[in-house]
Amino acid sequence: MGFSNIVGHTRQLESLRAALVGGRLHHAYLFLGPEGIGKQTIAMALAQAIHCAAGNGDFCGSCDACVRIQSGNHPDVRLVGLLEKKKEIVIDQVRQLERELAYRSFSGKPKMAIIDPATLLNAPAQNALLKTLEEPPEQSILVLIASSGGPLLPTVRSRCLSLTFGPLPRDAVAEALIARGKAPDEATLLAALSIGSLGAAMMIESEGWLEKRRNWGEIIGALEPGDYRGAMAAAETIAGDRVETLKFLEWAGSWYRDLMVYAVTRDADKLANPDLIERIETLSAKTPFDRLLWLFSQIGEAAGQVQRNVNRRMIIEKLLFGAVKAG
Ligand SMILES: [Zn+2]
Repeated sequence: MGFSNIVGHTRQLESLRAALVGGRLHHAYLFLGPEGIGKQTIAMALAQAIHCAAGNGDFCGSCDACVRIQSGNHPDVRLVGLLEKKKEIVIDQVRQLERELAYRSFSGKPKMAIIDPATLLNAPAQNALLKTLEEPPEQSILVLIASSGGPLLPTVRSRCLSLTFGPLPRDAVAEALIARGKAPDEATLLAALSIGSLGAAMMIESEGWLEKRRNWGEIIGALEPGDYRGAMAAAETIAGDRVETLKFLEWAGSWYRDLMVYAVTRDADKLANPDLIERIETLSAKTPFDRLLWLFSQIGEAAGQVQRNVNRRMIIEKLLFGAVKAG
């Protein structure tokens, strides 16, 4: 085990390791970047490297400290997330964290707290956290993990050292999946679908997502101009369940994006749905570009409406009517 086992993010890992070895770690970090690309893995790795018995600026994964951190059982390392059935990280959680950080370190090495997802800290919790950020307890490191800085107070953001993580290269995701036992063909496809997120690639796999999106591709790929009856039937099939409908819309975004990308580039390697190339080829040739743009632009709004519980079937119907509109 060690930093070399982490997929991607070479530059960010180098900067963290240099700070660790040089004793220059900041007291608060903000790790920014898309979901599922390894931000929490890196924060945990940093915690392990700080406490590892080997103490060589890396971590072994097998000493007592490494094992306890990995299993969430180290007294100096705390992961704060959503409590069960809660939608936000609340002030009590932050206050408890502050109390814990105020205790003396058990190991004599810096204490570390990771808040993930920090975007779910509500306003009172963020205000409470500000105090810790302004007067950091001695020998403590706080890592906030967020997909975007938007939901955080500017005062919280400005007191953290931001480190931005980008999507992983497609090849890196594919390689990591192969290392986890995937067949190369499937790994390549999952890597393309996941748009640079190893976490997403593994989730796609576990939820029968491959099968679902093939079905969706079949259903909306088969709609002909003027086929409103077909569009209604398709909407009925797709909008059965709220979570599924939201997943469909997320996928539909990648689908219409693919149709536009292919219309412009004719390059199958740039697609998020490379296995559906035949349908993409046909549809991108016969659908006007401004229609594709309109469809793509409708996805976000449709997802917002589904989240607000507006009639799902009607929302999908409206989208698909737009897709089959003749002329
Ligand atoms: Zn170790």
